[in-house]
Amino acid sequence: MVKPKIKINIKICLACGGCISICPQDALSMISSKAYLEDEKCINCGICIKTCPIGAIKEDKK
Ligand code: SF4
Ligand code: SF4
Repeated sequence: MVKPKIKINIKICLACGGCISICPQDALSMISSKAYLEDEKCINCGICIKTCPIGAIKEDKK
């Protein structure tokens, strides 16, 4: 399993749903009005990073 390269800052997530509708893997969902990532579905395509209007999704450089 590849470690996901994205990280969601749920403190600033506006729950706009943009990342959820664009993810080709259906890896993102909304839980308690915050974007939530299912790690094992993510293919690290990076589309959601570019989609988030407030930059709440970043590359996880760890
Ligand atoms: S990096 Fe790609 S596959 Fe992973 S959550 Fe974002 S849009 Fe989905
Ligand atoms: S695109 Fe950004 S602000 Fe919108 S739901 Fe996703 S993480 Fe939250």
